[in-house]
Amino acid sequence: MRGKLVIGNWKMNGSLDANRRLLQELLPPLAAVKGLEVAVCPPFPYLAQVGALLEGSSVALGAQNLHSAGQGAFTGEVGAGMLEELGCRYVLVGHSERRSLFGESDETVAEKFEAALRAGLVPVLCVGETLAQRRDGSTEAVIAGQVRAVLQRVGGAGIAAGVIAYEPVWAIGTGETASPEQAQAVHRHIRALLGEATATPILYGGSVKPDNAAALFAQPDIDGGLIGGASLEAASFLAICRAA
Ligand code: 13P
Repeated sequence: MRGKLVIGNWKMNGSLDANRRLLQELLPPLAAVKGLEVAVCPPFPYLAQVGALLEGSSVALGAQNLHSAGQGAFTGEVGAGMLEELGCRYVLVGHSERRSLFGESDETVAEKFEAALRAGLVPVLCVGETLAQRRDGSTEAVIAGQVRAVLQRVGGAGIAAGVIAYEPVWAIGTGETASPEQAQAVHRHIRALLGEATATPILYGGSVKPDNAAALFAQPDIDGGLIGGASLEAASFLAICRAA
């Protein structure tokens, strides 16, 4: 039985003060929510602060990106070992915003996934189709390409040490969620692509809110959520965690 996992992706949001207030509000009630793993992914400059605030709680720390090299002349980049040293358990790789705004290819994403594994982190591979790709019927092919690029590099055992997040690009930050049936169909497709790595957790992301979370999380192949906007608000994130 795969456990439930809910990850908050704060994206480029937060401040020292806002982070402290958010966690002060979130952590006490969250301690009473049992039976799931929760993580938050703040921007790099806040990892140390948030890591310290999470101490003594059951909430894990994650980062939003990494470079595939461990260290070196890569101005502005961050290596997996640095994230591990700061206490990260998770790291997102290949978020659609990284793919579309920062030009990350399937190959780059696969290299990052492998680098994260090598450092002992749990990489969260984000995959998803655009609206144009959904409309022209290529959703399954796009997702297959994104998943296979990583499978070819790290194999089934490698991917099973990570997490996959299905985030349809058209549902991210738009208020338009995939229906539970639409999401489940893609999750089933992803599970079938994984072969022996069938126990890999598969999260759904894209406008998950307190009022749609329970129906999404009830689907047989949806193992939790990757939450953007609603993870910045303690009451909303808490309600979503309770629904998992
Ligand atoms: P929203 O929940 O704001 O749609 O963002 C989803 C997402 O991109 C999480 O990684």
